[in-house]
Amino acid sequence: MAYVVTENCIKCKFQDCVEVCPVDCFYEGENFLVINPDECIDCGVCEPECPAEAIFPDSDPKTADWTETNRKFASIWPNITKKGDAPADAQDWNGKPGKASMLSDKPGQS
Ligand code: SF4
Ligand code: SF4
Repeated sequence: MAYVVTENCIKCKFQDCVEVCPVDCFYEGENFLVINPDECIDCGVCEPECPAEAIFPDSDPKTADWTETNRKFASIWPNITKKGDAPADAQDWNGKPGKASMLSDKPGQS
């Protein structure tokens, strides 16, 4: 089992999750973070750290197709271990529905 990042991270990207991960398995896109589900050791430490409540165990039905999205982008985006600046409008996007179509496939810059 693994934890994965889901839709509400899009355009929020607070990054509180990355520094607590003992195996550094977060990867950064332009407006989203993913977990490599094959590296995640299922410790659950990141889940309560996420202000957007976007991290779930992959056994949760809310993760649906997100596990494959996490796996796909973890193989092409850069690893992230240090928290950078969240987008200025991150809080405005927290909890907004319908963000899946806004997911950028570009890698992160930090
Ligand atoms: S803490 Fe949550 S919203 Fe922030 S980057 Fe991590 S998963 Fe995304
Ligand atoms: S559950 Fe643990 S190992 Fe997996 S991403 Fe979160 S902090 Fe890292």
